[in-house]
Parts: sequence; C-alpha cells; structure tokens
Amino acid sequence: MEVQIGKCRLIIKQGDITEEDTDAIVNAANSRLAGGGGVDGAIHRAGGPKIAEECRKIGGCPTGKAVITSGGNLPASYVIHAVGPIYRGGKNNEAELLRSAYISSLELADKHNLRSVAFPSISTGAYGYPIKEASRIALQAIIDYCKSHPQITLEEIRFVLFTPQDKEVYVQSLKELMENLSD
Ligand code: ADP
Repeated sequence: MEVQIGKCRLIIKQGDITEEDTDAIVNAANSRLAGGGGVDGAIHRAGGPKIAEECRKIGGCPTGKAVITSGGNLPASYVIHAVGPIYRGGKNNEAELLRSAYISSLELADKHNLRSVAFPSISTGAYGYPIKEASRIALQAIIDYCKSHPQITLEEIRFVLFTPQDKEVYVQSLKELMENLSD
C-alpha cells in the first residue's frame, strides 16, 4: 500500500529490512544498544561489526529516543537505533514512549537531510506490544510528523513488516487512519 502525506510517500510492504536501499533503516534497539535477537540481531549480522563499535562508543539510549550510526555493510548508509518500550499492560506510558521512538527517529533522519527511511514494527516482537495498537501509534506518529514539518527532507518512508500477517495489520490500520483523515 502507498499513500502521499504532504511531501512524503508512505509505503507499507513485507520484507527483510536489512535489504532495504533507503538512506537509513531503523533498528528496534534496546537501551544499552547491546544488540539482541529479532530485527536488531539481523541488522548487526548483515551490517557487520562497525555498527556495534559505533553503538559501544555512544554507550546507550533512553527508551523513547533514538541515535544514529553508519550502516556498515548494509545497502542503507545509516542505521537509526530507536528504543521502544517493553509492553507491561499499557498503563506505563507505553503509547507515548512508542510514539516518541518514531518521532525521534524522524527528527534524526530530518537532521541528517535523509531522503528515505525504512521502519520495522518497533516493540511488537520480544517487547510484546500488541501489534494492532502499535501500528496505529506508529502510523499516526508518522502522519503527524509529515504534516507538521512541510520542510521535511524525507520523500519516502517505508514500513517493512517481516510477515504477511503483520503487513496486513499495518495496511488495515493505515486504511482506517486515512478514512478518518478525510472525514
Ligand atoms: P522489539 O524488541 O522492539 O519488540 P523485535 O526485533 O523482537 O523488537 O521485533 C520487532 C519486529 O521486527 C517484529 O515484528 C519482528 O517480526 C520484526 N523483524 C524481525 N526481523 C526482521 C527483519 N529482518 N526485517 C524486518 N522486521 C523484522
């Protein structure tokens, strides 16, 4: 699925984010930037040790924020390491922290004058965030950012979902949000 939000094209697709040729890919990192399983492990495996070295120098990143490193051997030039919340029932500020992880990533992309960025579904794997709710928060954050930043350098934002099921959830949420936009 593909929609235009202001200057920015928003694309939802299925795939392996490590293969994306966007200027940056976003990693669902942990706050120690220590690497791990899931998409984090896949990015470090495909990108090589340079990314982990840069992460070590940065030291860490609070939940809800993001930091940037080079892309090592990846097709992408940069990796934006965003730290989403661990889901603990939903009453521990998880929604705000998840939104903030996306907004911080977009701010970094904008600051580095990037033209394209690819996101995974942050927090919905090991961190347990229910994906329907997470997809609404993620997409709304991106729509809000694009609308409120008409000078944004980003021309394309991709969501790259690992499974067809996850992709369908994001497509459905985007359809619902677009219907609400036109009401
Ligand atoms: P978190 O700890 O933030 O929940 P995970 O990596 O456990 O992060 O999961 C986040 C999402 O990333 C999950 O939906 C998982 O299916 C997905 N994922 C795992 N590997 C990849 C990959 N190579 N490309 C894109 N998404 C991936």
